[in-house]
Amino acid sequence: MAQIALYTLGCKLNYTETATLARQLVARGHTLTDWDQRADVYILNTCTVTHQAERKAHKLLRQVHRRAPNALIVVTGCYAQLRPEALQREKGVILIAKNNQKPYLAQAIDDLLREREPFLPNPPFKEWSFWPSSSGEGRMRAFLKVQDGCDYRCSFCTVPQARGPSRSASPETVIQELYRLAQAGFREVVFTGINLGDYGKPHGASFLSLLRRIEAEGPTEIYRYRLSSIEPNLLSDEILDFIADHKRWAPHFHLPLQSGSNKILGLMRRRYRRHLYENRIEAIRRRFPLAGIGVDVIVGFPGETETDFRETQHFLADLPVSYLHVFPYSERPGTPAAAFPDSVPWEVRLMRSEILREISARKRSAFAQACVGHILHVLLETEEEGLTENYIRVHVQNGQVGKFLPILLTGEEKDGLFIGKILGRQ
Ligand code: SF4
Repeated sequence: MAQIALYTLGCKLNYTETATLARQLVARGHTLTDWDQRADVYILNTCTVTHQAERKAHKLLRQVHRRAPNALIVVTGCYAQLRPEALQREKGVILIAKNNQKPYLAQAIDDLLREREPFLPNPPFKEWSFWPSSSGEGRMRAFLKVQDGCDYRCSFCTVPQARGPSRSASPETVIQELYRLAQAGFREVVFTGINLGDYGKPHGASFLSLLRRIEAEGPTEIYRYRLSSIEPNLLSDEILDFIADHKRWAPHFHLPLQSGSNKILGLMRRRYRRHLYENRIEAIRRRFPLAGIGVDVIVGFPGETETDFRETQHFLADLPVSYLHVFPYSERPGTPAAAFPDSVPWEVRLMRSEILREISARKRSAFAQACVGHILHVLLETEEEGLTENYIRVHVQNGQVGKFLPILLTGEEKDGLFIGKILGRQ
């Protein structure tokens, strides 16, 4: 049996898939080891969202080949899906598995170890199947992939080609997986997807019906459910009402905005404009005055003039959200936007990122300050630290791992975290 090291770049979905692959390898009798240790097989799960992620993949592959020249190196993920030829050139790479081949990878690695030709089926794009997967972060929080792929065609994005058409786990599979996670000791589950709100293809169950089923049939041991990023046009009033009516569902939302300029949103081929976005933020705030709201934004998209950027800047400065994730636009080969005119110089992209990051820091601390004096609920990941429902990391005294407790958020801080005073024990 082999020593196998895995490394993941990119999004939460990639992490869930690496974790699932790791479980499959262990079930086949292999042992896992750290990436910086000697191993017989190294598996790198790549990302292609930015140029930096691709560069890092090459760097990791070279490092590993220098350390263990005889090891088998396997590469998978979005970069492997889109640019296998670029990875093929790296020394020691013996197998490149596309995203849709991940479910067969554990078997293929066994084949390689037995010096047999690995079998990796390659279904046509439209027939990509859903591979259920989940990963744990710490001991308490798990990420469960319920949807994969995307049928949107945002002009800057390679994800639809890299991850295939939109498809989802059946509600039965989701419930089953929740019981497994509860049994493994997880107490919070974050539902993830590439386009989460588009859940339901091909079986037809709506996202809201999935949430209702989870609430009715899911394991009681899970104290809290959280949604990861959801497209603003798919976050309906009905979903918000459902979350407001069921206390296990966290008032924490992550809504990609990408730009506050309607002109740029049009060029990006996003399916909403700023008015709809503003309306969704208001809809959240009306129901959840203390909701944590995260916003993704891209600066320096081709054609973004100083005036367009100012529009985004002012829009965000006035928007009652809690924090921003700011990304300088990165040209991705093969996307329509990569050929758009009026490219923005890199130094301007970085300067604009900096301006928005400052706004984000102010929003983050104003949001935490607004929560001071309120009672929140924390799930303790260590004896001293945990996350509230609205995504504030707090410090507590004399806690117990895995406990879900009401706390009073005080104004004091320790190690950069707000202090929560435990009010009762559950
Ligand atoms: S919604 Fe747009 S940005 Fe998000 S994965 Fe789909 S195409 Fe990419």
